[in-house]
Formats: sequence, structure tokens, C-alpha cells
Amino acid sequence: MQATERTDPRDVKRRQRAAQAAVLQPVSSRLRLASAMVAVASLCAVAPFILVVEVCRELLTASPDWTKVWTLVFVALGILGLRGLLQSGAVLWSHLIDSEHQDTLRRGLAEKLSRVPLGWFTERSSGDVKKLLRNDVDALHYLVAHARLDVVAALTAPLATFGYLLVVDWRLSLVLLVPVALYGVVLSRIMGPGHTDRMTTYEAWQTRVSETTIEFVDGIQVVRAFGQPRKGHRRYQDAVDGYGSFFRAWVTPITRLEGIGGQLLNPVVVLVLVLLAALGLVEAGAMDPVSVVPFVLLGLGVGSIVLALGYGAQALRQASTASMRLWELSQTPELVEPEGGPRPRVGVVRFESVSFGYRAGRPVLHDVDLELRPGTITALVGPSGSGKSTLARLLLRFYDVTEGRITVDGHDVRDLRATDLYRSVGFVLQDVQLVAGSVRENLLLARPGASEADLERVCRAAQIHERIVDLPRGYDSEVGQDARLSGGEAQRLSIARALLADTPVLVLDEATAFADPESEAAIQDALAALVADRTVLVIAHRLHTIVDVDQVVVLDDGHVVEHGPPAALRSAGGLFSRLWAANERALADIGDDAPTTPGPTNPEGHA
Ligand code: ATP
Repeated sequence: MQATERTDPRDVKRRQRAAQAAVLQPVSSRLRLASAMVAVASLCAVAPFILVVEVCRELLTASPDWTKVWTLVFVALGILGLRGLLQSGAVLWSHLIDSEHQDTLRRGLAEKLSRVPLGWFTERSSGDVKKLLRNDVDALHYLVAHARLDVVAALTAPLATFGYLLVVDWRLSLVLLVPVALYGVVLSRIMGPGHTDRMTTYEAWQTRVSETTIEFVDGIQVVRAFGQPRKGHRRYQDAVDGYGSFFRAWVTPITRLEGIGGQLLNPVVVLVLVLLAALGLVEAGAMDPVSVVPFVLLGLGVGSIVLALGYGAQALRQASTASMRLWELSQTPELVEPEGGPRPRVGVVRFESVSFGYRAGRPVLHDVDLELRPGTITALVGPSGSGKSTLARLLLRFYDVTEGRITVDGHDVRDLRATDLYRSVGFVLQDVQLVAGSVRENLLLARPGASEADLERVCRAAQIHERIVDLPRGYDSEVGQDARLSGGEAQRLSIARALLADTPVLVLDEATAFADPESEAAIQDALAALVADRTVLVIAHRLHTIVDVDQVVVLDDGHVVEHGPPAALRSAGGLFSRLWAANERALADIGDDAPTTPGPTNPEGHA
């Protein structure tokens, strides 16, 4: 697997830095203060060693001044205590800042999610949204609570140490720098050219493995039922093998280099190096033996501080990608919601010269003109990918049109408040959405003030009342807990909800496409109640279900290529008649005695 797109690593870094700065902006001034505390704490960590060196110097004189020695020891202890206070105070404070920041961020994200177009959600799985809200916000913990403080500590302490050692003996200080410089060379080999691409490929393999794992687990029953466990296993196995080979090829040389780097900064290696150089200098009479002491005491710690910086790098990288994703979400354009506005009640829908493309991609709909009148059913048909769902979703304002406009009772949908739009335009989609909560709560989403009698009436009409009262707690049963509904039952519950909403306009995505025959019959009856006297737009995937609709609109590659009553289009010799013939052949092949006369009173066909 290759990284699909080559991105300029500098550009990625620039964008990550900008994203980090934007995400951290609300806490940056407080983090600066906490960092200052850590900087002072790091200086306080070095100072006692310097004082101990002075103590050693004093003790090595012919007649040590004990008052001076004890004063130095007590001052060193005092500074150590101050260091402890400052360090723990800064870490505690940065964690408090982090928890407040996470709270604000999560609230902000929840608000943002309530304003992004509904289409944003159809493009993502609930797992993706959870990852943003939970994992990505969690990943920022290192960035806020640790990263800056660690970097400040890791820079201040060695710099202060090195500055002091330079004053003591600049030649030995340079010797101390040798392993650090060599480690820098090794690190640059590890992080060398192509590192960003390899990281992208690594992430692509990780995604591939998790996708095939889900596929494998989801399909395991079917695959085993057909006695081919190896087949379902293969894609997963291939992904795991591919990931393993890539990982080995990438990481083996890195591990070797890391081993070498670690050895270079090993305190024993540094000690041996410093002592060898010091012995040479002392023997040559170029250095006072006492001056070796600070190098032994202080110099050895330099390596471990540099290594500690490297260990935080992985957490920092995760935090960077997380802040990038969060920043991208914050930049997602929001639907502009008018302050007030009319609430359409009649339900005349017009698409006027509507064109649309997803983001910067190619246009998906071209110059569509369409009128949907109250009391009529319009079926949208066309080959897969022709733009049926997109057209229907524009009416639901999952996205805003690129050109033209869509009106309901003469009002542009962009001028309607979301609540007014969804009180006028209802929808039942294939992908039934029931929220966590009781059956009653799910129904009341459509009309919070609805009475018990209303609930029962719509549930009876949707052929689901009997099933609900059979549930352990009836209407109070919790969806997914004691209300375990089949796909068809969930679909009928969503139809009951749409009935309760009582909107003049209704969009139906073929609601029975995946239902079993028994559910399909019940859903047909439920839909018959639903469509009466409304303006109905149906996305029809199965043509035998739409023979009696009022109008068929045929889409091909985003263009309306035909429209009119189904009977007329069947004999017109155009795309519809070809699709119809194909549908007939398919039905004959599977020996399906499918219904042929659904009409406004038996409208499953439309759905
Ligand atoms: P089907 O019958 O298979 O459901 P459709 O006629 O409903 O197809 P649409 O789902 O509207 O077609 O898709 C129309 C075109 O828009 C397709 O080329 C599809 O790949 C593209 N498309 C759909 N959704 C998105 C999206 N969220 N982002 C980018 N392109 C999209």
C-alpha cells in the first residue's frame, strides 16, 4: 500500500502548527505562565548541583570553612524544596487548565455539530464522530498538560547546565557535546526524507487493518454459514500480513538506529568519554582536578533529558493530528440560519435551475427544474449514481445548492429556520435513525406535545402499535435494551414518527428495500397512511413499485432526461423504458411475482 497523495511535508507541518495554535489559543497565556514556572523549577533543579560542586571545592581545600559548607548545603536543600513546589504546582495547574479546556472544547464541538449541514454526518460514520469528540479531545491532553512544560524543562535544564559547565571548562564542555551531536545525526537519519510519507502509509495500513477487522467480524456469520471461513478470513489476513511486512521493513532499521542513539547518550558512555578527556587535560596540567566534579555530577544527566524529549514525540504527533482534525471541523462551513421566517403549510415544492457539486468536486446535478404539487407523488428514478439521493437531500437541506434555488410554498429553503423547514418537510430514509431513549421519546421527537391518543393513532396507522404494547414496558421500553426491534419494525416506528410530524411535504427513500416480505406488507400499509394528501417525493430503486405514481422524473448523470406519467414513459423508448425492461427481466429471472399496481392508496411502491 502506498501513500496515495504526496503532500509537501513542510506544508503539512505548517498546517499542523497553525491548527495547534488555533486549538490552544484559549489557554495559551495560562500555559505560558505555567511554562515560566517550570523554567524556574528547572533552574532550581540545576542550582543545587552547582552548590554541591562548591561544597566539594571547599572540602578539598586544606582547611574547609564549615559554616560556608553548611550554608551551601542548606541553601541547596531550600532551592530543591522550591523546585518541588514550583514543578508540582505547574503540573497541577496545567492539568486543571487541560480539564477546563477539554470541557470547553467538547461543548464547542457539540454546538458546532448542531450547526454543520446534516450532510456532514452522512459522510461520516458514528465512529468517526466519536473519535473526534472523544479520542481527539483526549489526545490533546499531552499537548496541553505536558508537551510545552516538558519542552521547556528539557531545554532550560541542559542549557543552564551547559552554560555553567562552559564557565568551568569550555574544552570539556565541548567533549560533552560530542555524544549529543552524534545522537542528533542518528535522529536525523531516523526522521530523514520520506518519513512523513512513511507515516502516512503506516496510518493507511492501520485503517486498512481496522476496516478489514470490522468486515471480517461483521460477515463472520454469513461466511461460516456458507462454509467458507477461509475466504472471509483472506482479506483480513492479507491486510495484517501487508501491515506486518511494511512495519518490519520500516521499523527494523529504525530500531537499530535507536539502539545506537540510546547507547550514545548512555550515562556510562558519557562518563567514560568525559573522564578520558578530563584525564588528558589534568595530566597535561591544563585543568584543575576539582573542575572535573561538576562534569561528573551534571554532565551525565544531559543525555537522559534529550532522550525524554524523544519519548514525548509520539504523543505529540498524535496530538498534532488530533488538533488538525478538530481544527478542520471548526472550519467546516455552517448552515446560515435566519432569525425568523415563514413556516410553509401547503407544500408546493419547486427546484429552480438547481445545480450542485460536493465541495470542489465535479457537479453532480445540472440545472434541474422540477415542481412537486400537493396531493401528488413524484418518483425519482435513474441509474445508480445519477444523483437521486443528492437531489432529495438538497430539499432536506443536508447541503445547500451551488446554483439555483429550492422553494417550499415560494420560500427559499435557505430562508427557513431549520425547525420550520422540518415541520414542513418530513422524511423517512432507508437508514432508520432511532435515538437512545424510550419508544415514546423517539416518537415525541416529531411533536413534543403529542397526546397518548395521538401516539396510539399514528402507531396503529403505521402497523406498529401491537408490537409496541407487546414490549416489556410498552411505549416506555428503551430502544436497543428491552425494545429490540427488527429492521422492518424500526422502519414502521420511523413512519409513525413521520405521521406524527404531519408535514405537508414528505421525502421517502425506498423504505422497504431491505425489509422481509412480512414487514414489507406492513410497511406498505403504513406508507399508504403516510402519503395521503401530501406532496411526496420518492426515491425509487425498484421500478415495479412505482407504476401508479403521478409523475416520474428520470435522472441520468445529474440531468433530468425525462419526466411524465409512468405509463407514458414506459412506451416512450427512452431511458425509463430501458430501465423498465431491465427491471422486468430481473423480476422474471428471480420469478418474483411482484406487486404491479401500487398507487397513491398503496404507495409502498413509491418508497
Ligand atoms: P444510488 O441509486 O446508487 O443510491 P443515486 O442516484 O442516489 O445513487 P447519489 O447518491 O445522489 O446517486 O450520488 C450522485 C453522485 O454523487 C455519485 O457520483 C456519488 O459518488 C456522488 N456523491 C454522493 N455522495 C457524495 C458525497 N458525500 N461526497 C462526494 N460525492 C458524493
